[in-house]
This record gives sequence, structure tokens and C-alpha cells, in this order.
Amino acid sequence: MKTLVSTPNIIEAEQIKAYLQDADIDAQILEENNTFFSSTPDAANYRIIVSDDDVDNANMVLQDYREQNKKNETLPWCPECGNIDVTETIIRHRYGSVWFLIFAPILLAISLFLPFTWGTICAAFAFGFIIQFFIGYKVHRFKCNKCNHIFKRY
Ligand SMILES: [Zn+2]
Repeated sequence: MKTLVSTPNIIEAEQIKAYLQDADIDAQILEENNTFFSSTPDAANYRIIVSDDDVDNANMVLQDYREQNKKNETLPWCPECGNIDVTETIIRHRYGSVWFLIFAPILLAISLFLPFTWGTICAAFAFGFIIQFFIGYKVHRFKCNKCNHIFKRY
């Protein structure tokens, strides 16, 4: 048997064990009380052990587990109901800001009265304002799978 990983967190140890068992790898958790090294007397460490033949596979599963865990951590929870089952969504707006579009001809008109350099810059902005409207934009949102609330990361 070989030690795959050790953690002070029993929940994490159980999760890793379950993850390994899902991948048909037999794993055991050994609890060791390292009173000798730690300042708190009841601090335990949990070692996850697998058989020698499974070490390579188990390491891959462990990596997978960590990646999954990292992903879960980065997802926020729903501010409406506190649910953590949320999906990342990209909402595409077909059109950009209409205010900039309205502003564009005004800017274009102003540019005619400005000296050449400033006029060119001003006109370029005006065209940019028109273009942004037709390109649209994307916003990053999260959707709660329970109450369908759509929210921004906060
Ligand atoms: Zn919700």
C-alpha cells in the first residue's frame, strides 16, 4: 500500500475516497493523530492509501478531483435562494447601446466643425459608436438551476 495524499480535512479525505472508488480504485483512509508535531492536541491527519498497482491511476483521479473542486469553488452561489447549483451563462445582446447610436450623428456633426485632427478623431469615435450597436455585446452571468434567477458575480 502507498500513501496517495494526506489531508487534515476528513470531508476532503472522504470525497477523494469516494472519487477513487467511482474509478474502481480501492482506497482506505487512515487516521493518524500527529499530536507530536501539531500544536493542537486533537489535530488528526487523514492518509489515503491505495495499493501499489493503483498509484498511477489514483494520482490521475486525484488530479481530476482537484480540478473539479477548483471549478466548484470558483462558481458563486445564488443570491436569491443560496443554491450552489448554478450554471455559467453568456448572454449575447444583439445590439449595443442605443444611446451611443443616437449620439453618433451628433458627434459626426460636431466633427465637421472641428480642426482636421480633432475632427478625424471625433468622426472615428462616431463610427465606433455606430459599429458597436450592430456588433452587440456579451455579458457574463450565472443562472441558478433552482429558481432560475440570473445574477452577476458579486
Ligand atoms: Zn436561486
